[in-house]
Amino acid sequence: MAETAQATVTFGVLNETSDHESRVALTPDIVARLRKAGVSCLIESGAGVAANYVDEDYTKAGAEVVSADDVISRSDALGFIDRPDAELIARMKPGTWVIGMLGSFTDTDYIASLEQAGLVGVGIEKLPRQLSSAQSMDEMTSQNSVMGYKAVLVAANAYGSFFPMMTTAAGTIRPAKVLILGAGIAGLQAIGTARRLGAVVTAYDVRPAAQGEVESLGAKFLDLGLDFSKGQGEGGYARQLTAEEQAAQQAAVDEKAAGFDVIITTAKVPGRKPPMLLTKAGVDGLKRGAVIVDCAASELGGNVEGSTVGTQVTEGGVTIIGAPYLASEVTNTASNLLARNVADVLAHFVRDGKLAMDLNEELDNALVVAGRAEAPAAEGK
Ligand code: NAD
Repeated sequence: MAETAQATVTFGVLNETSDHESRVALTPDIVARLRKAGVSCLIESGAGVAANYVDEDYTKAGAEVVSADDVISRSDALGFIDRPDAELIARMKPGTWVIGMLGSFTDTDYIASLEQAGLVGVGIEKLPRQLSSAQSMDEMTSQNSVMGYKAVLVAANAYGSFFPMMTTAAGTIRPAKVLILGAGIAGLQAIGTARRLGAVVTAYDVRPAAQGEVESLGAKFLDLGLDFSKGQGEGGYARQLTAEEQAAQQAAVDEKAAGFDVIITTAKVPGRKPPMLLTKAGVDGLKRGAVIVDCAASELGGNVEGSTVGTQVTEGGVTIIGAPYLASEVTNTASNLLARNVADVLAHFVRDGKLAMDLNEELDNALVVAGRAEAPAAEGK
């Protein structure tokens, strides 16, 4: 970020109100970082408390702590973790930039509502993650990494035995056998964490490139005996499998899953319903006491048939934990990382002391999902 003498853009962050959210999109260290980029910060009183930052921490860092109404009316740009709802959108002044995960892959009505309100939408889900200039803006990577770590701790907590092998005077306990399905950012972090706890770890991903990454972390790659040599699609992501491929994959995973004590699923395909990897037959085939943590659980469904957000125990004694919000449970570090990501997205658009979009820039064209052609927030500043 370039040094500028005077802050000319105002960035605001509100208290995140959803029940599952304890993170905050601005942390005190980032206030100072943004000032250097010509951005002054407003934060709603109490917004950082759940992430262990009190108002005084923000004031000391140089932010103004104000009411929600003031944040909304005085900010040129607002940063969010959960995207703002219709009621909040209606309170924003036209020309405000809205930065966060806006769901633009799946929810065109929502993006249209931003357009109608005259807002500029910056959808972090559209970040071209392979660009080196985008690395520090990558909220998906930072938060999925936190999620993968926490998923293992949640699983270990629910599991009725040890993860490591343990020799005691009363006998030797065998290590837990852990299966990680989906070996992207979250899955690789889960492998590392489960290995550090002493579990014997196996992992699977449809992308052929994942095998080397799994093995380099000391885990075994699960061979399903299926050829998904073209499992990698655009941008290094998994492609969506055909119905036949998916059925073959499910049958193979269901069969192999029976040998594991703990299963952690993290598989996604950007902008689509998560693929179902383990069906009810696979869950029923697990031993009593087995634990599943489904990080892909959502209202669209998850990686495990019948998983919902929260915990359920099947008749066969298998605990299924649908846990899409785990990053929020590592609230302090997850906030620090996320705030840096959001701030770097914002700072990218600060040009000559104003917020502006450059139609010739790849990053701008990818990220600006509403209010594309003009830079209204810059007017009249
Ligand atoms: P993600 O959260 O979208 O998906 C998680 C994992 O699920 C992926 O590895 C995906 O291959 C896997 N998956 C999807 N469908 C599956 C199926 N049917 N069966 C098994 N596994 C399935 O992805 P992610 O973790 O954010 O990242 C995915 C890839 O993008 C990785 O290769 C990662 O290294 C790459 N990436 C690159 C950059 C970069 O270039 N800077 C940044 C971030 C991620």
